[in-house]
Amino acid sequence: MSTHPRTSDGTADHDRPARPANAVPGLNALLVPTTELYLDLHRHPELSGAERRTAARFADWLEADGFRVVRDIGGHGVAAELHNGDGPAVLLRAELDALPVAEDTGVPYASSATAPGPDGRPVPVMHACGHDAHLACAAAAARWLAARRDHWRGTLLVVGQPAEETLSGARALLEDGLYERITPPDEVLAQHTAPFPAGMVAHADGPVMAGSVTLEVLFEGDGGHVATPHLTANPLLAAAGAVVRLPAVAAHASDPAERVVVAASSLRTGNTGHTGNVIATSAVLHVTVRAFSEAALDRVASAVEHMVREEAATDPLSPRVTVTVLSRSGITLPDPDLTAAVRAAHRAHFGAARVTGWPGASATEDFPLLTGSGAHLHGKPRIRGAYWMLGATSPAQWRAAPGTGADEKLAALPANHSPRFLPSVRLTLETGTAALVTAALARLGPPTARTVECPQTDIG
Ligand SMILES: [Zn+2]
Ligand SMILES: [Zn+2]
Repeated sequence: MSTHPRTSDGTADHDRPARPANAVPGLNALLVPTTELYLDLHRHPELSGAERRTAARFADWLEADGFRVVRDIGGHGVAAELHNGDGPAVLLRAELDALPVAEDTGVPYASSATAPGPDGRPVPVMHACGHDAHLACAAAAARWLAARRDHWRGTLLVVGQPAEETLSGARALLEDGLYERITPPDEVLAQHTAPFPAGMVAHADGPVMAGSVTLEVLFEGDGGHVATPHLTANPLLAAAGAVVRLPAVAAHASDPAERVVVAASSLRTGNTGHTGNVIATSAVLHVTVRAFSEAALDRVASAVEHMVREEAATDPLSPRVTVTVLSRSGITLPDPDLTAAVRAAHRAHFGAARVTGWPGASATEDFPLLTGSGAHLHGKPRIRGAYWMLGATSPAQWRAAPGTGADEKLAALPANHSPRFLPSVRLTLETGTAALVTAALARLGPPTARTVECPQTDIG
């Protein structure tokens, strides 16, 4: 995910140091290997599509716990399943990939890893989105549930998804037969770190994350001498003009209540070499549109396309324009009934003060594909999804952040994708593991005695 998240409700809960009021029995002992796994993954991050080592660590862990493990699905994807009698099939999903970010947290376990970038030159790599924490929590939850099969009934599925950051991994998993190679789930559960206080979880009443469309706009001319701009189309000028018009597109093509984001993420020109006297033959502009409805995404993306063509046409020598959709992701809209059940389980375990609201972030995810949102599961039974946010900021970091209210502190704290994003290890892992275990227990369990609340006997 990739935006600045904000919690929706008041400040009092956020200022409260968060410690688990009660623990999942046996979780403390599990925290040692879980922390070791987290630190190892954090020190060895891998870019999207190159998650070979990460996938092997995750798969080996699950195999050791008795899961049947399928490796290398859709790239380096991992899928594992554990049958435990008749009952629902519940899938826990975590992501394998890291980002091309140079870690600047200063912690002893900081990543110094590099990997070949798109041009073959090394780029720094960091788990700047917290996917290492998601993996460690999923691994720990899987181990806890595998060791206590008398607490539940059904099929537990665990997936390590590759290439989430490029929004291609979920599609790759499905196209490579994920749900033919493991039992198709009835429900998919996932969580994502964000820089609100560790020890808390947050649920949304509507969308958790936005949908996105990323456009690549190619402006092309024939090049020429910079001293004779009247004789040649200038792709750079058209692209630059388009960039400054993007805010107006967002404003005019959407209702203010729709919460639409339109942003240029990169602009580069080609064929200029190192001289300052050549008009480039091309300019490539990347534009991302984020919105909370498919209709708004379609409308705003086509308004962007209309605008860039119009901008090119203002040049009497009109550069050629080609618009390509680089990626598209659906809106992450959890199932309301499933969310209510998971939220109730979290409240029963953590207490109401540690379960907060979430207004929806303009970050995006390819998680919706795993629930059948999109064409890939056409004709198959619907899969329900729940997705909640996991606090990751330590009490000390929260206290030290400038500002008095939650909004001010959130604005000041390093968010996901920042080189200084720094989850609080123990609290994040402890809470994330308990959140997955209690959610899974609420959804698995004897079919004749299913409950939406985590049985109190399971909570120490
Ligand atoms: Zn991310
Ligand atoms: Zn992420």
